[in-house]
Amino acid sequence: MADSNSTFDQNLDLASRHLDRFANNPTLHLINGAQQPSASAATFANYSPIDGGHLGEVASGDGPEVDLAARAATDAFEAWATTPGEERRRILHNVADLIVDRAKQIAVVESVDTGQAIRFMNAAAVRGAANFRYFADQAPAAADGKALPTPDHLNYTSRRAIGPVAVITPWNTPFMLSTWKIAPALAAGCTVVHKPAEWSPFTAQLLAEIALDAGLPPGVLNVVHGMGETAGKTLTEHPAIKAVAFVGESQTGSLIQAQGAPTLKRVHFELGGKNPVIVFADADLERALDATIFMIYSLNGERCTSSSRVLVQQSVHDEFTEKLAKRIRTIPVGHPLDPSTVVGPLIHRNHVQKVCSYFATAAEEGAIVHRGTDYAGQPGEDSHYVAPALFTGASRGMRIAKEEIFGPVLTAIPFADEDEAVAVANDVEYGLAGYLWTNDLTRAHRVSDRLDVGMVWVNSQNVRHLPTPFGGVKRSGIGRDGGDWSFDFYMDTKNVAIATGTHRIPKLYQ
Ligand code: NAD
Repeated sequence: MADSNSTFDQNLDLASRHLDRFANNPTLHLINGAQQPSASAATFANYSPIDGGHLGEVASGDGPEVDLAARAATDAFEAWATTPGEERRRILHNVADLIVDRAKQIAVVESVDTGQAIRFMNAAAVRGAANFRYFADQAPAAADGKALPTPDHLNYTSRRAIGPVAVITPWNTPFMLSTWKIAPALAAGCTVVHKPAEWSPFTAQLLAEIALDAGLPPGVLNVVHGMGETAGKTLTEHPAIKAVAFVGESQTGSLIQAQGAPTLKRVHFELGGKNPVIVFADADLERALDATIFMIYSLNGERCTSSSRVLVQQSVHDEFTEKLAKRIRTIPVGHPLDPSTVVGPLIHRNHVQKVCSYFATAAEEGAIVHRGTDYAGQPGEDSHYVAPALFTGASRGMRIAKEEIFGPVLTAIPFADEDEAVAVANDVEYGLAGYLWTNDLTRAHRVSDRLDVGMVWVNSQNVRHLPTPFGGVKRSGIGRDGGDWSFDFYMDTKNVAIATGTHRIPKLYQ
């Protein structure tokens, strides 16, 4: 306990030192390697999810800043795209090294800015470095293509970077998610204009500064802060931007697709989810329980791949949900910098209201609401702390079974057999991930095949392997990240056909 307290104190001390700069000076845009305010001098306030305190002012960008950043990215593009892959690899590994060096700083800033528990933010910062390393190593071969010979021609393909791209990210784990998009774009040879979420803008600044320190040329990674409806919208409409990599809500994805349509933007969307965990009676129920709890109550449940619905076979349903209800009362809710905290304060007052509105919805719909332990401190009037919750007695037609809540809230639904499990699992607008627990091998294959999702984990929590494809179907997204899938998005493929002999050329009009 003494150790954990002293680490909490150390974290508080570290956070106050690293947040000073954000408190004392406005966070500016980073364009062409230089910090700059908005032409209008407009700023917006960034508040702490912990106590509502003012963390600092942030430049609020719009057309002029987006235009400057898009021009900087355009001017830097040719040189960066033709920088040898080995050199891009070296610079991106430098970025990863500096992320590791500054991981503690990134983690505490992220924790205070988002309310996410430090235990997860430490790991998320290091994962950011891993993202850079993985894609850095692909840079030298990114342009490689295929030879597709015929008797008369040698066809060969090669890839080249598509151009300057926009990366637009959400607030839930902003640093890690930004690296997941920006690292492959840079490895491919694209230049980037990043618009971070306005509720958690700080670590985007740290990443852009680290990239400059690591030797990334000015203009290759630019950051424009601001609201989605202004900075984000203008960015997706800018003619110099060739593609938009977006992570956020499904509704925003629709808007971005429309905004980008006049300039024919390529889009890649990672959107919402209402991911089912299907637990069959023959499964290892203790492991299924641990995984379900971990995937919904870690990261404040603000996780696109969270296990937000648990579908449990009737014969084990009561036992499983009773254990769930008991376990959520042991999950520590607290200050995000306290190492013992699992659930921290949710990001924003509006989001707290949205999440909490589902408690009334659940009761109105006839479900039973179980709550975990509440925050033990003095939360104040506008507390963002939300005790973990479990809804039982739910059925597939209820809103709590269909809508993305994006908080530490789990909906449990019983099912009778495999057909019903699949029908319930697929009965939502989303299709990101599915989790399946069974010791029946053939059923595991069969059900995996029948789930309308982009990713399935069998007898597993959400373990990521970076070369594998990540993405969803239905309203959960368009396109895949990971491995070579990322490069296909950030690059164009060209085919060259060379005649190897004197194939027949039709003579017309002779
Ligand atoms: P959001 O869609 O509200 O905002 C995301 C980003 O889009 C922000 O930077 C915002 O400023 C910007 N934006 C908003 N309107 C815009 C517009 N008209 N044009 C351009 N940009 C605009 O999402 P959020 O609330 O920040 O994040 C939560 C959502 O993100 C959840 O739905 C969650 O499931 C999803 N998410 C998905 C994944 C995934 O990989 N599928 C990962 C993390 C989060």
